[in-house]
Amino acid sequence: MLELQHIKKTYHVGDTETKALDDVSVAFREKEFVAVLGPSGSGKTTFLNIIGGLDRYDSGDLLIKGKHTSDFKDSDWDAYRNNSIGFVFQSYNLIGHLSIVANVELGMTLSGVPKEEKHRRALEVLEQVGLKDHLHKRPNQLSGGQMQRVAIARALANDPEILLCDEPTGALDTSTSVQIMDLIQKLSAERLVIMVTHNPQLAEDYADRIIRFQDGHIISDTHPHQERPKP
Ligand code: ADP
Ligand code: ADP
Repeated sequence: MLELQHIKKTYHVGDTETKALDDVSVAFREKEFVAVLGPSGSGKTTFLNIIGGLDRYDSGDLLIKGKHTSDFKDSDWDAYRNNSIGFVFQSYNLIGHLSIVANVELGMTLSGVPKEEKHRRALEVLEQVGLKDHLHKRPNQLSGGQMQRVAIARALANDPEILLCDEPTGALDTSTSVQIMDLIQKLSAERLVIMVTHNPQLAEDYADRIIRFQDGHIISDTHPHQERPKP
């Protein structure tokens, strides 16, 4: 459903050129849980931002459900981002003075969903992430794990086909991280999940597929749970 073909992205700062992605080709199926590993600076965030339509690639092509994006206009990218993509970051990016229901409703601002429908969907996704008893609390009354659940609910509000996570457990302790990974794994049954992480153990334990980056290249692409020989 998503395919990168020979994607290149170079950043220019002063006289310095950085090849953040250097000829990256990879394809993803509709329902996969993909972990992306690699050293700092290897291109992971750039990869996620290009897939999510936050950044533009310089050359190559990104195909979305068979559609070429090389001729996408800004309005096509906006529609893609608003309807097909959910983003979860290490920092939860919640609005402190709003209730968690309002924070999730805010995620639907750009999608043109009517007010009552927004509210109904917010309640539905907050229940899905296990927060239905906390609806009217504010973010600062929640634990880190609960705040990340709110951020995940907000990302799910438009029912995206692709959920992109940039170190979703980076600020959480081990036991909370495991709970968040359990949740993200469940969500991957219904959509494509691509998650950047610095935690190889969580990647091994939860992902169907692990992609490793180095210097803007994919250096390996494996399916950790399928490599055991069948009895
Ligand atoms: P960005 O994606 O915004 O460029 P990075 O993914 O490189 O940022 O890093 C995010 C955070 O993780 C930073 O605080 C960085 O210090 C830390 N970090 C980067 N590489 C590693 C690593 N290999 N192991 C553990 N932490 C790392
Ligand atoms: P990672 O997420 O693996 O840490 P990034 O995709 O953030 O890697 O970065 C890849 C390379 O591109 C790094 O060398 C980084 O310094 C550079 N880079 C990323 N974003 C920018 C930017 N906005 N401007 C200039 N250089 C950037």
